[in-house]
Amino acid sequence: MNATVLPPGLPRPAPSVEGLGQAFWEGATRHVLCLQRCQDCRTWQGAPELICRHCGSYRLGDEELADTRGVLYSWQRVWYPVHPALKDAVPYVVVLVALPQAPGVRLVGNLVNDPGGPLPIGAALEAVFEDHHNADAEYTLIQWRLMS
Ligand SMILES: [Zn+2]
Repeated sequence: MNATVLPPGLPRPAPSVEGLGQAFWEGATRHVLCLQRCQDCRTWQGAPELICRHCGSYRLGDEELADTRGVLYSWQRVWYPVHPALKDAVPYVVVLVALPQAPGVRLVGNLVNDPGGPLPIGAALEAVFEDHHNADAEYTLIQWRLMS
């Protein structure tokens, strides 16, 4: 998909593709969901850390999810721009997405196909990989769309 939720040229902070989040962001550039997973208890972690939050193990790895499906856990429609560059982008929808293939993990993103009105909690979503090729950085953001 070539369209972006936010307008081009917005001076937005680019994700850091180093450190504990490196595998997540590199996965995004390959259009896959890649999350940290404990190699001892097999628990997924959405925000990467140095130890497993479930069992305390230091043996953590990064694994690709089998698919890019999600489920709408919560949402909020943004009506007021928090930055002058967003004045023409509102309203837009911020979604909190549960991942059935990674229980306990929820990701935040924008909904690219907002139908307007209330959104059904539990609706099926699919990741949309939004590639950005800015002069100073190239990165991919993970957004979401309602599946029909
Ligand atoms: Zn563990």
